[in-house]
Parts: sequence; C-alpha cells; structure tokens
Amino acid sequence: THRRWLMGANPELSDLIDATIGSRRWHRHPEQLDLLNDYVEDKPFLEKLGAIKHLRKEGLAKYVKEHNGIDVDPDSIFDIQVKRIHSYKRQLMNILHIMYQYHKLKTDPDFDMLPTTYFFGGKAAPGYYIAKETIRLINAVADKVNNDASIKGKIKVVFIENFGVSIGEIVYPAADVSEQISTASKEASGTGNMKFMMNGAITLGTLDGANVEIRDAVGGDENCVIFGLKAEEVLNYYATGTYSAWDEYNTNENVRLVVNQLTDGTYGNFQSLSDYLIRANDEFFILKDFNAYADAHVEIMKRYQKRFQWLKSSAINIANSGVFSSDRTIDEYANEIWQVKPVMIP
Ligand SMILES: *Cc1c(COP(=O)(O)O)cnc(C)c1O
Repeated sequence: THRRWLMGANPELSDLIDATIGSRRWHRHPEQLDLLNDYVEDKPFLEKLGAIKHLRKEGLAKYVKEHNGIDVDPDSIFDIQVKRIHSYKRQLMNILHIMYQYHKLKTDPDFDMLPTTYFFGGKAAPGYYIAKETIRLINAVADKVNNDASIKGKIKVVFIENFGVSIGEIVYPAADVSEQISTASKEASGTGNMKFMMNGAITLGTLDGANVEIRDAVGGDENCVIFGLKAEEVLNYYATGTYSAWDEYNTNENVRLVVNQLTDGTYGNFQSLSDYLIRANDEFFILKDFNAYADAHVEIMKRYQKRFQWLKSSAINIANSGVFSSDRTIDEYANEIWQVKPVMIP
C-alpha cells in the first residue's frame, strides 16, 4: 500500500507530491499519482526530488554507520537488493558480479565505474544451507572490499541484518537502483519491486513477475533496465536439459574468474557455492545471465551520469506506480472474484 510505503515511509516525498499535485486525490486514489506525469521534465520539481533522494540516502548511511560501522557515501549509487535470501532470487549473482567489478578495478587500468554502494538485506530459512553460505560470502566480500583503500571507495558492500518491514521503511526510500534479478519464470509477482518504484528507484531486473508490468507502466526500457534470459528460454532449457554450467564456466572468462575465486582463498572457502554452481549445474542460470547482468550495470551507470534524465526516469516511476497499490488489487478481487460491493461508512 502507498499509505505505508510512500506516505508513511517517505513523508518528504509525500509532501513534495502534495505540493505538486495536491493531496486530495492521490491519497485515496493512488492511480492519480499519474498527475505527476505533467512534471517529469519540470526542473524545479526534479531538483527537489533529487534532494529528497539524497536526504534519504543520508538517512540510510547513518543507519549503516550505527549498525554496521561502515562508512558509505550518499553520493555513490545506492544499489539495493532486499528480500528473502533464496537461490532463485539470485543474491549470489549479485555478489559474484561485485567480485568481478572489484577484480577489474584491481587489475585492469582501463576499467572504470561510478562509486557504488551495494546493499543486501534479508533472512535465510534456518536450514537453508546455500542461502546461509550466500550471506557468509556477502559478508566476506564486504570485509575485503570495504577495507581496501586502493579502490578509493568505488565499491562498498553492506549486509543489513534482521531485515523486516520497519527497517524496510529506511531502506526502500534510499534506493537509486532496485535489484529484481530472479530467474525469469520464478517470481510470481514480487512486491519489493513496487515499494522501490513508488520511492523513485529505477528497476534493474529480469522479465519476471511484476517487473513485466512495471516495464509496461513506465513506458518501456527507457525507464528501467531489463536483462537476461526470458521465461520461455528458461523453461526450454529445463524441458530439454541442454544447459551446461560447466560449458559456461569453460567458455566465459568472467564466470571462470569469479567461480575460481570461491575456492582459491580470495575470500575464504566457498566450495559449497562452487559445487552448487558447477556440479549441481546452476539450477537458476546465474552463470548464463552473468554477462548480461554486468552489461545492465554498465547501462545503469551510463544513465546515472545524465542527472536530468535519471531524475526524469525516477519521476516517471513514481507517477506510474499507483496501479501497484494494494487498493487496486483489493478492488479487482472484490469486483471480479468475490463480487462484493463496498459498504459506505457515513
Ligand atoms: C516487501 C517485502 C518483501 C517482499 O520482497 P520481494 O522483493 O517482493 O521478494 C519481503 N520482506 C519484507 C520485509 C518486505 O518488506
């Protein structure tokens, strides 16, 4: 609901929207956020939007300083993946990509990137070994990368403990980039993607779950970054059994690099995750999507440098997020499934 995730969690943004289109309509009818579409090229509005995002990034930075003791720069890109830790949601692909970027920074003088802070948050079920190992890897990479002065703060990695809705209210409004990278065909909908969108984050995602509807709502690929296998391709691999993680490892040097680093001591011993990817044949196509994911990050950085365009995209995301309020969902259920009429309270 936009009441909790926009009006409640982001009062600064909510006030800006009130001042721009009035409060009377969108508070009760979130679809009317689309009145903001008239302001997506309005410089003073976009400047205020940018200032609010910065303020909320400072707020998350302060939280992280207090809880993790890590200094993060609110001027860096805040790239955030918060959700249950699960193989299909592919937090492992995210952290492997960070390992790749770190390696490039250390070894390739021609490689450059915008300073980025990567946030992870979420719980693993107690007996879910691979999920627990993924958290352990995220923290191992964070320890190494955050303390390497030679990369001049270009990458910071933060694992937010005990993620839940209250911490979510600090996290979602602070995102520049919303990581929605589940293997196509696996996510029924997702709701985190919607919370990020109403707070002006740009979706970096696969064509899965409600990312499909988000892409449509924002008018296509100009205002989100979509990458990777399509659901049909994934289902075809499952049906034919033709995917080979081992072939991917042998033919893709970026993949080989990061998989080797799981066991060569760079970050400690993650034989479990290496075996999961290679011996168990990478059931969620992390290796297959790896290069496309890296390219998607390059695209994000290209867009982030064009501040006006970025803020315009951010505004377009907010303006078209109303359809994702649970109000609309409940209305649809009431009308189409339950066939009940609302009772008006006098
Ligand atoms: C929204 C939310 C989720 C669901 O996130 P997805 O990205 O859709 O998986 C899970 N946990 C918490 C605490 C949330 O607020």
